Amino acid sequence: MKPADQTRNLLVISHEPELADQTRRAAGGTMPVAYAATADEGFNRIKELRPDIIILGPLNSPVEVLRLYRELREGWISHHASLLIVDLNAADNTHRILSDENLTMKIGEYEFQRGLVGAFQPAAELVPALQKSIAKKLYQRQNRLRASMLNPDKFCLVWEQIPGPGAFELRQEMVLGNARVAARSGMVDAISITDNPGGNPAIATDILCAEIKKAGIDPLVHVAFRDRSRNQAESLLFQLAALDINNVLILTGDYPASLGFKGRSKPVFDLDSVNGLRLVAEMNLGLERDILRKPVRLAPTNFFAGVAFSPFKQMEAEVMGQFYKLGAKIEAGADFVITQVGYDARKLQELQMWLKARKAKIPALAAVYVLSYPVAKAMHENNIPGCVVTEKLLSGIAAESESKDKGKQARLDRAARMFAVVKGLGYKGAYISGQGLPFESVEYIVEKGNELSANWMDLTREFDYPQGNGFYFFERDAETGLNREVPAPRIQPPTRPPVFLLSKVIHTAVFEPGSPLFGPLRRLMQLIDSSPLARKLFHWVERWSKGGLYACRDCGDCALFDTAYLCPVSQCPKDQRNAPCGGSFHGWCEVYPEEKLCIWVRAYLRLKSQHREDEIGKYLVPPCNWELYQSSSWINYFLGRDHSSRRRGIRPAHSKKS
Ligand code: SF4
Repeated sequence: MKPADQTRNLLVISHEPELADQTRRAAGGTMPVAYAATADEGFNRIKELRPDIIILGPLNSPVEVLRLYRELREGWISHHASLLIVDLNAADNTHRILSDENLTMKIGEYEFQRGLVGAFQPAAELVPALQKSIAKKLYQRQNRLRASMLNPDKFCLVWEQIPGPGAFELRQEMVLGNARVAARSGMVDAISITDNPGGNPAIATDILCAEIKKAGIDPLVHVAFRDRSRNQAESLLFQLAALDINNVLILTGDYPASLGFKGRSKPVFDLDSVNGLRLVAEMNLGLERDILRKPVRLAPTNFFAGVAFSPFKQMEAEVMGQFYKLGAKIEAGADFVITQVGYDARKLQELQMWLKARKAKIPALAAVYVLSYPVAKAMHENNIPGCVVTEKLLSGIAAESESKDKGKQARLDRAARMFAVVKGLGYKGAYISGQGLPFESVEYIVEKGNELSANWMDLTREFDYPQGNGFYFFERDAETGLNREVPAPRIQPPTRPPVFLLSKVIHTAVFEPGSPLFGPLRRLMQLIDSSPLARKLFHWVERWSKGGLYACRDCGDCALFDTAYLCPVSQCPKDQRNAPCGGSFHGWCEVYPEEKLCIWVRAYLRLKSQHREDEIGKYLVPPCNWELYQSSSWINYFLGRDHSSRRRGIRPAHSKKS
């Protein structure tokens, strides 16, 4: 099996074993080279190895080579490989190397294209020619975004495109047009495609990304869990992998907007982004599945998975919640980070400093959003979750929009200055976005930004837009206006509501496996579980008491222990079990601003009262197991059926269920 960071490999199919030796010399020990003497043997090796490049050498006849070529092109596994044909001419000891570009298909068959194949070369030149062809194929196959992110000398560029609703709209045409221009420019490393942006229905990302890939540039696909269950997410990821689309941005997603068919769509949020990353990480290792009662390990995928992060939160509990969540995402396997939209250089620097302090070698891209007045107004009014535009910034943009060009030049210049600042702050790249942004604007931002980047420190004070009473992770450096490497005091007062204190006492006395009541209660639960009537009555009592205390929704896989005794099912519209999403605003829940506090703000303040707030995101809470839905969570816990019991090492009890 291939490990997560895919090792390339090569397969030679030929009657001539010497071709495998020559290929090994050409590969120079950089990748394993397998050999198969016949077409049948070759097919078996392909299933086992999933080679990146297949080299077809002489077989019984040229017709057999072409037939095999066609079968490989049409095979579900083999069509992902790059193919090379080594055509040897024994009569005069010469060779030529052919590839897709030298072959054309006639009805149901392939043939060499005349005039494009080049002349036969002396046999002595075969190894260097193979070396060149293999290098070319590997270059064509590389994930350019991954390669750029891992290249220490490169500043990456991702350009965001926002597809809209409809199958035949001009907007989708524009997205593809932009992707083609970007591919031709060679300047952009990936085109990012949003997934039902703003929680509104739009054309599916996979179809657009397949087209973008054909245009010659790597897509970065947003995968939001707002609209999809874990099964549907897995299917989508299988599909993306099969299309060789490997860059994914794993997101919780904004709450569905109200523009769905006949009303607001049902929010799904079956996985949060941390569990989504875990799914991707397991797919990269090869998911294990029981198929016809036999454990089967699926072929590993090769995803390069990014996450979003908002450094621009206002309140201590929110800022800390974002960092805890990012820590959990990194633990779950995130390969890169992209920031939300905001214009505060100090907050942008905090992410770099936090990563450095944590010794996290994960590349981060900063959002460089070209801000028009209408969008700035929407962000200021908290209509675009997670994006922050302060009053001061909004009035500056309002003034600019009065100019003859309606502020166009000013916003491009701001974006260029921001590009320079994030480059100076040590970001690995820029994530450029903006409504209806043409490629010329992207080019302008990059060129001007690069020009300004030598003096980036002089520009940081232009991005000084603190929020009222805003908390910063680090202390301010009066000299630079940025941060000192000293964590700021955390002075937000904790809370100790009676229900929290009561829950804590009951938890310690009853639910901890070492407590004196635990053993007798486990035996009692076993007894109750063995009688349908007792089970029903007990479940009724539980629902009544937990409903009153926690607004329990009876999911059966209780997460109260993980969220400071706040039910994420009833009190978090996105059912976030691993720290907050990025949508809160001034402590309020994204979905109920100025009505309900984010449960993770409440959980932070509760845990802070016991100096336990740093526990947030420290361990991974799995998604709810819906098999336990509408069953007693207490029985499930004591009898070792739910995630909390597993975490505490409570063994499953023998079921006496009748
Ligand atoms: S059992 Fe589920 S629904 Fe009930 S309180 Fe626990 S997490 Fe919430």
